[in-house]
Amino acid sequence: MNYIDPHIHMISRVTDDYQRMAQCGCVAVSEPAFWAGFDRGSAAAFHDYFRHLTEFEPKRAAQFHIKHYSWLCINAKEAENVKLSREVIALIPEFLNRPNVLGIGEIGLNKNTPNEATVFQEHVDLAVKHDELILIHTPHLEDKAKGTRMIVDMLTHDQRVRPERVLIDHVEEHTVRLALDNGFWCGMTLYPTTKCTPERAVDILERYGTERICVNSAGDWGKSNPLAVPELILEMRRRGHAESVIHKVVYDNPLAFFRQSKRWVDWQ
Ligand SMILES: [Zn+2]
Repeated sequence: MNYIDPHIHMISRVTDDYQRMAQCGCVAVSEPAFWAGFDRGSAAAFHDYFRHLTEFEPKRAAQFHIKHYSWLCINAKEAENVKLSREVIALIPEFLNRPNVLGIGEIGLNKNTPNEATVFQEHVDLAVKHDELILIHTPHLEDKAKGTRMIVDMLTHDQRVRPERVLIDHVEEHTVRLALDNGFWCGMTLYPTTKCTPERAVDILERYGTERICVNSAGDWGKSNPLAVPELILEMRRRGHAESVIHKVVYDNPLAFFRQSKRWVDWQ
């Protein structure tokens, strides 16, 4: 089955991963800007990173007939440095006309600090002013419920934000309704151990339905599986879900969200 991985950090993966993903049916990926494993020392480092996301990765993916899209921001982990964050945010507009850019992301919170909240709101302001989609990172483990609540509050209090143009990622059992009930899209991240395993993700789909919900591997520097979406496909089949339902989750849904981007060019 053809599928889309809407959240994967290909910068951290080898070229063989693209090949294996293509062999498993991957036709498109989207890569949010994130942490590099260390705090970058200057805005110039982000300028190079944005070039990597908008120039190099689309070419590497194209060798395997995979479409590569990206999202731009300074991630929540580095957003504690407000001065650097503002320098990076000022760089983003020059990249917003690149054809593979879908919007601003993954922005959000990491430790739920006031500085992170300030930088989050400045990114939202940039996105709204440029009519861009927004992709949101929610914190891990014990910070997740509080952080997701803070994010939803900031977004719903900004009258300019249209929830159907925002995807809240890394939802779990205790945060999925907060995203869906407020009209946002949401993403479940399939990790081998933390976040959602494919089995837990299918439990959530069976409980909350398949509207405005996507799944991704978030393949990154940590222990993660770039073939996690095909694993979910197998788990849904094992439980007897119709092919059309599986296809909606792994293909139609991410495509419907991406299509709202003003630069979207259809390729189906
Ligand atoms: Zn990520």
